[in-house]
Parts: sequence; structure tokens; C-alpha cells
Amino acid sequence: MPKVLVLPGDGIGVEVTDVSLDILKILDEKHNIGFEFEIELFGGSSIDAHGVPITKEVLEKAEASDAVLMGAVGGPKWENLEHSKKPESGLLALRKELDAFANLRPAVVYPALADASTLKREVVEGTDIMVVRELTGGIYFGTPRGIEKLPDGGEKGFNTLVYTTGEIERIARVAFGIARKRRNKVTSIDKANVLEVMQLWRTVVTRVRDAEYPDVELEHLYVDNAAMQLIRRPRSFDVMLAGNMFGDIISDEAAQLTGSLGMLPSASIGAGAIYEPVHGSAPDIAGQDLANPIASLLTCAMMLKYSFDMGAASNDIENAVKSVLEKGYRTADIYQEGTKRVGCREMGNLIARALRE
Ligand code: NAD
Repeated sequence: MPKVLVLPGDGIGVEVTDVSLDILKILDEKHNIGFEFEIELFGGSSIDAHGVPITKEVLEKAEASDAVLMGAVGGPKWENLEHSKKPESGLLALRKELDAFANLRPAVVYPALADASTLKREVVEGTDIMVVRELTGGIYFGTPRGIEKLPDGGEKGFNTLVYTTGEIERIARVAFGIARKRRNKVTSIDKANVLEVMQLWRTVVTRVRDAEYPDVELEHLYVDNAAMQLIRRPRSFDVMLAGNMFGDIISDEAAQLTGSLGMLPSASIGAGAIYEPVHGSAPDIAGQDLANPIASLLTCAMMLKYSFDMGAASNDIENAVKSVLEKGYRTADIYQEGTKRVGCREMGNLIARALRE
């Protein structure tokens, strides 16, 4: 029985997670899954109730569950608290507790929304990319780091880009494993022409592929070239694998191809798995039934596929979303002239109906 800890969080996190739970319950019946859901406070709502963004009990429940489904955290009410008490620090604590070292960020351009992209339809249509980003190592965590005074009165700022064989192997395995569930191709991004650490990256990625995933196609690109090819030939990519900093940049560039924050799911996996939409709590539209629930629904589709190996149920969500978009229904964030504008709840109901059809 899949155990899912649900953390709706704050703002629109609550609204979109509500819709997602309804959809998961429909799938539960349809596919006879037997989900066990537990819903807990997280972020600002937990600060209000318990004084901390995530309690020890909730962290323990997260560890004991098969997956965590998150909404979003944060909002103006908690913005001025000291760093460790802010809603976002609860998210960092959760990622650390579950040793979430792999961040998965898909970028899919739906035919019905191709015109919402800043690139031409003929370039982006059919794009379906999964960026696999290493999340707990690399230059964001490497030491030594700091800013030091120099004898000449100036200062020196420095960081360290470091990866070990073990860190590269485990993220490479995630990327190759995902490629096998998709179109069987990995593009590994590095800067092996300039950085020794990236030479090691390329060598280790190649070795893992040759030894364990010989059936998966592997392409290597320097990060500067990858950034160009991503807007020139986005359709040619399947899984893009990168370290922390390059993955941070490339995943946002890939997201931009799709046009809207309200459509973007993500997952962070390691010892445990956290599924969350890319967007935040959107205080500007919270409580007004304006949020797009699709990012959260596609996040559920990822959970079904990657944590529970339920490809059919996952495809059900993706197909229902596609069919509702093709019928011309849009939330405000993706609205275009000539389409039918609906709220968060109504979008959820339409997708539920499409699922039942
Ligand atoms: P945001 O993602 O909440 O919103 C940015 C803009 O996009 C807003 O105009 C919002 O209305 C719109 N938007 C976002 N998601 C949408 C959706 N599903 N449907 C329709 N429109 C949508 O980012 P922000 O405004 O910079 O941050 C707001 C709060 O969320 C802050 O407290 C921030 O720290 C927090 N935040 C949390 C997470 C997270 O929980 N993972 C991520 C980002 C930001």
C-alpha cells in the first residue's frame, strides 16, 4: 500500500493540493491502488500552529512514507522571521532529512500551449525534456568558500566546485534509469574542456553507462553549447543530466520553453522522494480560486511513475490534462483570446471528468 505524506503548505499550495488529492482518489479507485494518505501542516501554517515550519513528528512521518506530496510554502506573513524560522527552511530540512540528491524537472510543451512559449511553435512543439540535476553537491556546497581580505586592501571571493566518484555515479544512475522509462537517451552536460572536476564527471558518467546501461544512448555537451542547443533543437533532448549549478541554469532555461510556471512539476529524490510543483504559494492570487492546478497534477503523475512504477495511472493524468487543454479550457495564467477561462476548482473538475471518460 503506497504511503503518501501530503503537505499542502500555504497559499495556493492548499488549493492545488486539494484538487490533486481528488484526482488521486479517482485513480486510486480506477487502478485499485490502495493509497494511504496522511495530511500534515507545513511551512507558514505549521509556524502558526507549532512555532516551527516543520515539526520533528512530520519529518519522521516523511521518512516513514513512500513519497511526500507538497504544495508550496511561504507568504508575506512569515517573510520577516529569522532565517531558520522561515517556511522555506522547513523545505530545506525536509530535503536534507530525505537526502534528496536528485532534482527532476520536466519541461513539456503541450501542442495546445505551444503559442504561449517565447520561441516559435515550429521549434518548441513536441518538446519533452527531463532535466536531472544533482542537488546536494557541487559548487553550492563545496569548501573552501568565502570572501577574504587581501593585503592590498582588496578582497578575494572563492568557491569550490567539487564532485566525488560516488556522487557522480549515483546521479548518473538516476538519469539513466529515468531514460529507460522515457526515450532512452541521456545528454550529460559538463565543462570538461576547462575544468578537471568536469573531466572526472564525463569519465564517470561514461563508465556508468558502459557498465550498467549499455542500451541507453549517451551524448556529452559542454554547458555553453547545451544552452544554445536547448533553444535551437529542444525536441532532440530526452534526459539532460547536470551538476548542481549547470542544472540550476539549464532547468530554468528548459522551463522557459514551456511558457508557464503553473504547468511545471518537479521531484527531489534520494533516500526518500519529495514531489512538488515548481511554483511558490503565489500570495497575489491565493484564496481566489485563480491558481492553475496542472503543475500539482503533473507532479502527482511524476510520483505515480517514479515512486510507484504506475505508468498507466501516470499517463491517465497526463492524457486528461492534454484533453482538457485541447478542448480550450485555461486558467488565468495560460489564458489566450478565444479560449475558455476557468478557475482552479473548475479546472480540477474538468480533468476529473476527462479521467472518468
Ligand atoms: P510564486 O511562484 O509563488 O509566484 C510567481 C508568480 O507566478 C505570481 O504572480 C503567481 O501568481 C504566479 N503563479 C505561480 N504559480 C501559479 C499557478 N499555479 N497558477 C497561476 N499563477 C501562478 O513565486 P513568488 O511570488 O516569488 O513567491 C511567493 C512565495 O512562495 C514566497 O514566500 C516564496 O518564498 C515562496 N516560494 C515557495 C516555493 C516552494 O514552496 N517550493 C517556491 C518558490 C517560492
